[in-house]
Amino acid sequence: MIEVVSITLENEMDLVLAHKRSMKLAEKVGLTLATQTTFATAVSEIARTVIEHTDNGVLYIGLEQHKLRFTLAAWVTYDPEIRFTNNDAGFFYAQKLVPEFIQTQHTDYNRIDMKIGIPRSLKLDPAKVSLIKAYFELEEPLNAYDEIKQRNTSLHKLAEQKDEELRQSRILDEKKTEFISIASHEIKTPITVIKAYTQMAKKLKDKSSEQVSTLLEKVDTQTTKLLSLVQQLLDVSKMELGNLQYLHEEIELNTFIEEMSAILQHIYPSNRLTLKLCENIPVAIDKIRLEQVFSNLIGNAAKYSNKDTEILISCTLHDPGFARIAVQDQGIGMSAHTRESIFNKFYRADDVMLTHSGLGMGLYVASKIVTDHGGEIWVESTEGQGSTFFFTLPVL
Ligand code: ADP
Repeated sequence: MIEVVSITLENEMDLVLAHKRSMKLAEKVGLTLATQTTFATAVSEIARTVIEHTDNGVLYIGLEQHKLRFTLAAWVTYDPEIRFTNNDAGFFYAQKLVPEFIQTQHTDYNRIDMKIGIPRSLKLDPAKVSLIKAYFELEEPLNAYDEIKQRNTSLHKLAEQKDEELRQSRILDEKKTEFISIASHEIKTPITVIKAYTQMAKKLKDKSSEQVSTLLEKVDTQTTKLLSLVQQLLDVSKMELGNLQYLHEEIELNTFIEEMSAILQHIYPSNRLTLKLCENIPVAIDKIRLEQVFSNLIGNAAKYSNKDTEILISCTLHDPGFARIAVQDQGIGMSAHTRESIFNKFYRADDVMLTHSGLGMGLYVASKIVTDHGGEIWVESTEGQGSTFFFTLPVL
Protein backbone atom coordinates (compact mmCIF):
# COMPACT_ATOMS: atom_id res chain seq x y z
CA MET A 1 0.00 0.00 0.00
CA ILE A 2 1.23 3.49 -0.82
CA GLU A 3 -0.06 5.83 1.87
CA VAL A 4 -0.72 9.33 0.50
CA VAL A 5 -2.60 10.95 3.40
CA SER A 6 -3.75 9.89 6.85
CA ILE A 7 -6.47 11.50 8.97
CA THR A 8 -7.13 10.65 12.60
CA LEU A 9 -10.87 10.25 13.06
CA GLU A 10 -11.89 12.11 16.16
CA ASN A 11 -15.04 14.10 15.41
CA GLU A 12 -17.49 15.21 12.73
CA MET A 13 -15.09 17.85 11.38
CA ASP A 14 -12.80 15.04 10.24
CA LEU A 15 -15.54 13.86 7.87
CA VAL A 16 -15.07 17.05 5.83
CA LEU A 17 -11.33 16.36 5.59
CA ALA A 18 -11.95 12.68 4.72
CA HIS A 19 -14.42 13.62 1.98
CA LYS A 20 -12.33 16.42 0.44
CA ARG A 21 -9.08 14.49 0.45
CA SER A 22 -10.58 11.32 -1.06
CA MET A 23 -12.20 13.44 -3.77
CA LYS A 24 -8.88 15.17 -4.42
CA LEU A 25 -6.86 11.95 -4.67
CA ALA A 26 -9.45 10.37 -7.00
CA GLU A 27 -9.28 13.54 -9.10
CA LYS A 28 -5.47 13.55 -9.13
CA VAL A 29 -5.29 9.98 -10.47
CA GLY A 30 -7.68 11.04 -13.24
CA LEU A 31 -10.93 9.29 -12.29
CA THR A 32 -14.25 10.75 -13.44
CA LEU A 33 -16.23 13.09 -11.22
CA ALA A 34 -18.83 10.35 -10.70
CA THR A 35 -16.16 7.88 -9.47
CA GLN A 36 -14.52 10.57 -7.33
CA THR A 37 -17.86 11.18 -5.61
CA THR A 38 -18.61 7.48 -5.18
CA PHE A 39 -15.20 6.84 -3.60
CA ALA A 40 -15.41 9.91 -1.35
CA THR A 41 -18.93 8.98 -0.23
CA ALA A 42 -17.88 5.43 0.68
CA VAL A 43 -14.88 6.75 2.61
CA SER A 44 -17.03 9.34 4.46
CA GLU A 45 -19.69 6.75 5.34
CA ILE A 46 -17.08 4.45 6.90
CA ALA A 47 -15.36 7.36 8.63
CA ARG A 48 -18.72 8.44 10.11
CA THR A 49 -19.51 4.90 11.28
CA VAL A 50 -16.10 4.63 12.97
CA ILE A 51 -16.43 8.06 14.65
CA GLU A 52 -19.82 7.00 16.04
CA HIS A 53 -18.12 4.12 17.88
CA THR A 54 -14.66 5.40 18.80
CA ASP A 55 -12.28 8.32 18.56
CA ASN A 56 -9.31 6.00 17.99
CA GLY A 57 -9.87 5.43 14.29
CA VAL A 58 -7.37 6.40 11.60
CA LEU A 59 -8.18 6.79 7.93
CA TYR A 60 -5.49 6.25 5.30
CA ILE A 61 -6.03 7.18 1.67
CA GLY A 62 -3.59 5.99 -0.94
CA LEU A 63 -2.85 3.63 -3.78
CA GLU A 64 -2.06 -0.02 -4.25
CA GLN A 65 0.23 -1.25 -6.99
CA HIS A 66 0.10 -4.73 -8.56
CA LYS A 67 2.81 -4.86 -11.20
CA LEU A 68 1.76 -2.09 -13.59
CA ARG A 69 -1.79 -1.79 -12.33
CA PHE A 70 -2.87 0.74 -9.70
CA THR A 71 -5.89 0.74 -7.43
CA LEU A 72 -7.29 3.69 -5.49
CA ALA A 73 -7.53 2.59 -1.86
CA ALA A 74 -8.74 3.76 1.51
CA TRP A 75 -8.31 1.81 4.71
CA VAL A 76 -9.51 2.58 8.19
CA THR A 77 -8.13 1.05 11.39
CA TYR A 78 -10.01 1.08 14.73
CA ASP A 79 -10.24 -0.68 18.10
CA PRO A 80 -10.05 -4.49 17.89
CA GLU A 81 -13.22 -4.98 19.97
CA ILE A 82 -15.37 -3.08 17.44
CA ARG A 83 -16.82 -5.11 14.59
CA PHE A 84 -19.35 -3.63 12.17
CA THR A 85 -22.29 -5.49 10.67
CA ASN A 86 -24.88 -4.66 8.05
CA ASN A 87 -26.98 -3.19 10.85
CA ASP A 88 -24.59 -0.22 10.81
CA ALA A 89 -26.11 1.88 8.05
CA GLY A 90 -22.87 3.52 6.88
CA PHE A 91 -21.09 0.16 6.73
CA PHE A 92 -23.97 -1.36 4.75
CA TYR A 93 -24.15 1.59 2.33
CA ALA A 94 -20.39 1.92 1.72
CA GLN A 95 -20.14 -1.76 0.67
CA LYS A 96 -22.59 -1.06 -2.14
CA LEU A 97 -20.50 1.82 -3.46
CA VAL A 98 -17.04 0.31 -3.97
CA PRO A 99 -16.16 -2.87 -5.93
CA GLU A 100 -13.77 -4.18 -3.28
CA PHE A 101 -14.72 -3.93 0.41
CA ILE A 102 -13.25 -6.08 3.19
CA GLN A 103 -13.33 -5.99 6.98
CA THR A 104 -10.45 -7.84 8.69
CA GLN A 105 -9.58 -8.58 12.32
CA HIS A 106 -6.06 -8.19 13.72
CA THR A 107 -4.62 -8.54 17.22
CA ASP A 108 -4.27 -4.83 17.96
CA TYR A 109 -6.83 -3.35 15.57
CA ASN A 110 -9.61 -4.08 13.12
CA ARG A 111 -9.57 -2.75 9.59
CA ILE A 112 -11.78 -1.99 6.61
CA ASP A 113 -10.29 -1.75 3.10
CA MET A 114 -12.09 -0.10 0.18
CA LYS A 115 -10.67 -0.21 -3.33
CA ILE A 116 -11.52 1.03 -6.80
CA GLY A 117 -9.42 -0.05 -9.79
CA ILE A 118 -7.78 2.67 -11.87
CA PRO A 119 -8.09 2.09 -15.64
CA ARG A 120 -4.80 1.54 -17.49
CA SER A 121 -5.84 4.24 -19.92
CA LEU A 122 -5.14 6.82 -17.18
CA LYS A 123 -1.45 5.85 -17.47
CA LEU A 124 -0.60 6.15 -13.79
CA ASP A 125 3.07 5.32 -13.13
CA PRO A 126 5.50 5.58 -10.17
CA ALA A 127 6.71 9.03 -11.27
CA LYS A 128 3.13 10.38 -11.29
CA VAL A 129 2.48 8.74 -7.93
CA SER A 130 5.51 10.57 -6.47
CA LEU A 131 4.14 13.86 -7.80
CA ILE A 132 0.75 13.17 -6.24
CA LYS A 133 2.35 12.33 -2.91
CA ALA A 134 4.37 15.56 -3.03
CA TYR A 135 1.18 17.50 -3.81
CA PHE A 136 -0.51 16.22 -0.65
CA GLU A 137 2.61 16.80 1.45
CA LEU A 138 2.70 20.45 0.43
CA GLU A 139 -1.07 20.96 0.40
CA GLU A 140 -2.33 23.97 2.38
CA PRO A 141 -4.73 23.17 5.27
CA LEU A 142 -8.31 22.82 4.04
CA ASN A 143 -9.75 24.94 6.87
CA ALA A 144 -8.89 26.35 10.31
CA TYR A 145 -9.66 22.99 11.93
CA ASP A 146 -7.32 21.23 9.50
CA GLU A 147 -4.59 23.75 10.28
CA ILE A 148 -4.84 23.14 14.03
CA LYS A 149 -4.96 19.40 13.43
CA GLN A 150 -1.86 19.49 11.24
CA ARG A 151 0.01 21.54 13.83
CA ASN A 152 -1.10 19.13 16.51
CA THR A 153 0.09 16.19 14.44
CA SER A 154 3.51 17.71 13.83
CA LEU A 155 3.82 18.56 17.53
CA HIS A 156 2.84 15.01 18.36
CA LYS A 157 5.40 13.65 15.91
CA LEU A 158 8.06 15.92 17.41
CA ALA A 159 7.18 14.76 20.91
CA GLU A 160 7.39 11.11 19.79
CA GLN A 161 10.73 11.79 18.11
CA LYS A 162 12.06 13.43 21.28
CA ASP A 163 10.78 10.52 23.38
CA GLU A 164 12.59 8.11 21.08
CA GLU A 165 15.78 10.18 21.22
CA LEU A 166 15.53 10.20 25.02
CA ARG A 167 15.00 6.43 25.08
CA GLN A 168 18.02 5.90 22.84
CA SER A 169 20.23 8.17 24.89
CA ARG A 170 19.11 6.35 28.08
CA ILE A 171 20.11 3.04 26.50
CA LEU A 172 23.47 4.52 25.51
CA ASP A 173 23.93 5.95 28.98
CA GLU A 174 23.19 2.57 30.57
CA LYS A 175 25.65 0.88 28.23
CA LYS A 176 28.30 3.47 29.06
CA THR A 177 27.71 2.97 32.79
CA GLU A 178 27.98 -0.77 32.39
CA PHE A 179 31.21 -0.32 30.43
CA ILE A 180 32.66 1.97 33.13
CA SER A 181 31.72 -0.60 35.75
CA ILE A 182 33.41 -3.48 33.93
CA ALA A 183 36.46 -1.42 32.95
CA SER A 184 36.93 -0.14 36.51
CA HIS A 185 36.75 -3.68 37.90
CA GLU A 186 39.34 -4.86 35.38
CA ILE A 187 41.66 -1.93 36.11
CA LYS A 188 41.26 -2.19 39.88
CA THR A 189 42.61 -5.75 40.12
CA PRO A 190 46.10 -5.12 38.64
CA ILE A 191 46.46 -1.84 40.55
CA THR A 192 45.68 -3.62 43.81
CA VAL A 193 48.38 -6.18 42.97
CA ILE A 194 50.93 -3.43 42.16
CA LYS A 195 50.09 -1.75 45.45
CA ALA A 196 50.57 -4.98 47.38
CA TYR A 197 53.98 -5.62 45.73
CA THR A 198 55.04 -2.02 46.43
CA GLN A 199 54.16 -2.43 50.10
CA MET A 200 56.12 -5.71 50.22
CA ALA A 201 59.12 -4.09 48.52
CA LYS A 202 59.02 -1.17 50.98
CA LYS A 203 59.11 -3.59 53.92
CA LEU A 204 62.18 -5.49 52.68
CA LYS A 205 64.84 -5.35 55.39
CA ASP A 206 67.73 -5.20 52.98
CA LYS A 207 67.06 -1.71 51.69
CA SER A 208 69.21 -1.65 48.59
CA SER A 209 69.35 2.10 48.36
CA GLU A 210 67.74 5.29 49.63
CA GLN A 211 66.83 6.13 46.05
CA VAL A 212 64.88 2.92 45.56
CA SER A 213 62.85 3.50 48.72
CA THR A 214 62.07 7.07 47.63
CA LEU A 215 60.89 5.77 44.27
CA LEU A 216 58.84 3.05 45.95
CA GLU A 217 57.22 5.68 48.16
CA LYS A 218 56.23 7.61 45.02
CA VAL A 219 54.88 4.51 43.30
CA ASP A 220 52.85 3.80 46.44
CA THR A 221 51.36 7.32 46.57
CA GLN A 222 50.45 7.28 42.88
CA THR A 223 48.87 3.81 43.14
CA THR A 224 46.76 5.02 46.07
CA LYS A 225 45.55 7.94 43.94
CA LEU A 226 44.80 5.65 41.02
CA LEU A 227 42.90 3.24 43.25
CA SER A 228 40.81 6.06 44.64
CA LEU A 229 39.97 7.31 41.13
CA VAL A 230 38.97 3.83 39.98
CA GLN A 231 36.93 3.41 43.16
CA GLN A 232 35.09 6.68 42.34
CA LEU A 233 34.35 5.42 38.83
CA LEU A 234 33.04 2.17 40.28
CA ASP A 235 30.87 4.06 42.77
CA VAL A 236 29.40 6.27 40.06
CA SER A 237 28.46 3.26 37.95
CA LYS A 238 27.04 1.48 41.01
CA MET A 239 24.96 4.56 41.78
CA GLU A 240 23.70 4.77 38.21
CA LEU A 241 22.76 1.10 38.19
CA GLY A 242 21.13 1.46 41.63
CA ASN A 243 23.60 -0.99 43.18
CA LEU A 244 25.16 1.18 45.91
CA GLN A 245 24.63 -0.75 49.14
CA TYR A 246 25.09 0.37 52.74
CA LEU A 247 26.06 -1.47 55.90
CA HIS A 248 24.91 0.78 58.75
CA GLU A 249 26.45 0.54 62.21
CA GLU A 250 25.97 2.59 65.35
CA ILE A 251 28.97 4.76 66.23
CA GLU A 252 29.90 7.88 68.19
CA LEU A 253 30.25 10.65 65.63
CA ASN A 254 33.07 12.59 67.34
CA THR A 255 35.22 9.51 67.77
CA PHE A 256 34.73 8.73 64.10
CA ILE A 257 35.63 12.30 63.03
CA GLU A 258 38.74 12.27 65.24
CA GLU A 259 39.92 8.98 63.75
CA MET A 260 39.24 10.18 60.22
CA SER A 261 41.03 13.49 60.78
CA ALA A 262 44.14 11.75 62.14
CA ILE A 263 44.35 9.58 59.02
CA LEU A 264 43.64 12.47 56.65
CA GLN A 265 46.16 14.77 58.39
CA HIS A 266 48.75 12.14 57.53
CA ILE A 267 47.63 12.12 53.86
CA TYR A 268 47.48 15.95 53.60
CA PRO A 269 50.45 17.09 55.72
CA SER A 270 50.64 20.52 54.05
CA ASN A 271 47.41 21.75 55.67
CA ARG A 272 46.50 22.04 59.36
CA LEU A 273 43.39 20.05 60.19
CA THR A 274 41.69 21.60 63.22
CA LEU A 275 38.73 20.09 65.06
CA LYS A 276 35.92 21.86 66.89
CA LEU A 277 33.51 19.21 68.07
CA CYS A 278 30.42 19.20 70.26
CA GLU A 279 29.40 16.41 72.68
CA ASN A 280 29.54 12.85 71.41
CA ILE A 281 26.49 12.00 69.30
CA PRO A 282 25.38 8.48 68.35
CA VAL A 283 24.69 8.02 64.62
CA ALA A 284 24.00 5.00 62.42
CA ILE A 285 26.25 5.16 59.35
CA ASP A 286 28.09 3.07 56.82
CA LYS A 287 31.61 3.85 58.03
CA ILE A 288 33.36 3.11 54.73
CA ARG A 289 30.96 5.32 52.77
CA LEU A 290 31.15 8.17 55.28
CA GLU A 291 34.96 7.91 55.19
CA GLN A 292 34.60 8.59 51.47
CA VAL A 293 32.55 11.73 52.17
CA PHE A 294 35.12 13.01 54.66
CA SER A 295 38.12 12.22 52.52
CA ASN A 296 36.48 13.87 49.51
CA LEU A 297 35.57 17.07 51.36
CA ILE A 298 38.90 17.32 53.17
CA GLY A 299 40.80 16.25 50.04
CA ASN A 300 39.08 19.04 48.08
CA ALA A 301 39.69 21.55 50.88
CA ALA A 302 43.41 20.71 50.67
CA LYS A 303 43.48 20.56 46.87
CA TYR A 304 41.81 23.94 46.35
CA SER A 305 43.78 25.78 49.10
CA ASN A 306 47.34 27.01 49.54
CA LYS A 307 49.83 25.10 51.61
CA ASP A 308 49.95 25.83 55.36
CA THR A 309 46.36 27.02 55.50
CA GLU A 310 43.90 25.69 58.03
CA ILE A 311 41.05 23.28 57.38
CA LEU A 312 38.49 23.47 60.16
CA ILE A 313 36.22 20.51 60.80
CA SER A 314 33.39 21.27 63.15
CA CYS A 315 30.32 19.50 64.36
CA THR A 316 27.23 21.05 65.91
CA LEU A 317 23.79 19.91 66.98
CA HIS A 318 22.25 22.70 65.01
CA ASP A 319 18.99 21.39 63.67
CA PRO A 320 16.77 19.25 65.92
CA GLY A 321 17.51 15.56 65.37
CA PHE A 322 20.50 16.25 63.11
CA ALA A 323 24.23 16.61 63.56
CA ARG A 324 25.68 19.23 61.24
CA ILE A 325 29.27 18.73 60.10
CA ALA A 326 31.18 21.55 58.43
CA VAL A 327 34.49 21.45 56.55
CA GLN A 328 35.85 24.94 56.12
CA ASP A 329 38.87 25.92 54.05
CA GLN A 330 40.68 29.15 53.22
CA GLY A 331 41.12 28.30 49.57
CA ILE A 332 40.12 29.65 46.18
CA GLY A 333 36.36 29.60 46.88
CA MET A 334 33.89 29.47 44.00
CA SER A 335 31.50 31.57 41.96
CA ALA A 336 27.71 31.47 42.33
CA HIS A 337 27.50 29.54 39.04
CA THR A 338 29.97 26.90 40.27
CA ARG A 339 28.10 26.63 43.59
CA GLU A 340 24.95 25.64 41.71
CA SER A 341 26.57 22.82 39.77
CA ILE A 342 29.24 21.24 41.97
CA PHE A 343 27.05 18.30 43.05
CA ASN A 344 26.31 17.37 39.42
CA LYS A 345 27.98 14.35 37.87
CA PHE A 346 31.34 15.13 36.19
CA TYR A 347 31.04 18.88 36.91
CA ARG A 348 34.31 20.77 37.30
CA ALA A 349 34.62 24.58 37.47
CA ASP A 350 36.19 26.05 34.32
CA ASP A 351 38.88 27.86 36.29
CA VAL A 352 40.21 24.67 37.93
CA MET A 353 40.25 22.53 34.78
CA LEU A 354 43.79 23.50 33.82
CA THR A 355 45.20 24.01 37.28
CA HIS A 356 43.93 21.07 39.38
CA SER A 357 43.48 17.43 38.38
CA GLY A 358 40.20 15.61 39.03
CA LEU A 359 37.23 13.89 37.43
CA GLY A 360 34.34 15.84 38.94
CA MET A 361 32.87 12.76 40.58
CA GLY A 362 33.78 13.19 44.27
CA LEU A 363 31.01 15.60 45.30
CA TYR A 364 28.43 13.75 43.20
CA VAL A 365 29.21 10.53 45.04
CA ALA A 366 29.46 12.33 48.41
CA SER A 367 26.05 13.99 47.98
CA LYS A 368 24.43 10.67 47.06
CA ILE A 369 25.94 9.00 50.15
CA VAL A 370 24.78 11.83 52.44
CA THR A 371 21.23 11.87 51.05
CA ASP A 372 21.06 8.07 51.23
CA HIS A 373 21.88 8.46 54.95
CA GLY A 374 18.88 10.80 55.32
CA GLY A 375 20.99 13.97 55.45
CA GLU A 376 21.58 17.03 53.29
CA ILE A 377 24.72 18.55 51.80
CA TRP A 378 25.38 22.11 50.67
CA VAL A 379 28.12 24.69 50.30
CA GLU A 380 28.69 28.29 51.26
CA SER A 381 31.50 29.97 49.40
CA THR A 382 32.75 33.22 47.92
CA GLU A 383 35.40 33.46 45.23
CA GLY A 384 38.83 34.01 46.77
CA GLN A 385 37.52 33.68 50.32
CA GLY A 386 37.37 29.94 50.93
CA SER A 387 34.51 27.48 51.05
CA THR A 388 32.56 25.72 53.77
CA PHE A 389 30.86 22.44 52.95
CA PHE A 390 28.07 21.39 55.32
CA PHE A 391 26.32 18.09 55.66
CA THR A 392 23.83 16.72 58.14
CA LEU A 393 23.29 13.24 59.57
CA PRO A 394 20.26 12.09 61.57
CA VAL A 395 21.06 11.53 65.25
CA LEU A 396 19.89 8.25 66.78
P1 ADP B 1 37.06 17.18 41.39
O1 ADP B 1 37.66 17.81 42.62
O2 ADP B 1 37.64 15.86 41.06
O3 ADP B 1 37.03 18.11 40.24
P2 ADP B 1 34.57 17.15 42.88
O4 ADP B 1 33.27 16.53 42.52
O5 ADP B 1 35.18 16.75 44.16
O6 ADP B 1 35.53 16.85 41.67
O7 ADP B 1 34.39 18.73 42.84
C1 ADP B 1 33.69 19.34 41.78
C2 ADP B 1 34.16 20.77 41.56
O8 ADP B 1 33.77 21.58 42.69
C3 ADP B 1 35.64 20.94 41.49
O9 ADP B 1 36.12 20.71 40.18
C4 ADP B 1 35.83 22.38 41.91
O10 ADP B 1 35.57 23.24 40.82
C5 ADP B 1 34.73 22.58 42.94
N1 ADP B 1 35.19 22.42 44.34
C6 ADP B 1 35.01 21.34 45.13
N2 ADP B 1 35.51 21.55 46.35
C7 ADP B 1 36.02 22.80 46.36
C8 ADP B 1 36.66 23.61 47.34
N3 ADP B 1 36.89 23.17 48.58
N4 ADP B 1 37.03 24.85 46.98
C9 ADP B 1 36.82 25.32 45.74
N5 ADP B 1 36.21 24.62 44.76
C10 ADP B 1 35.82 23.37 45.07
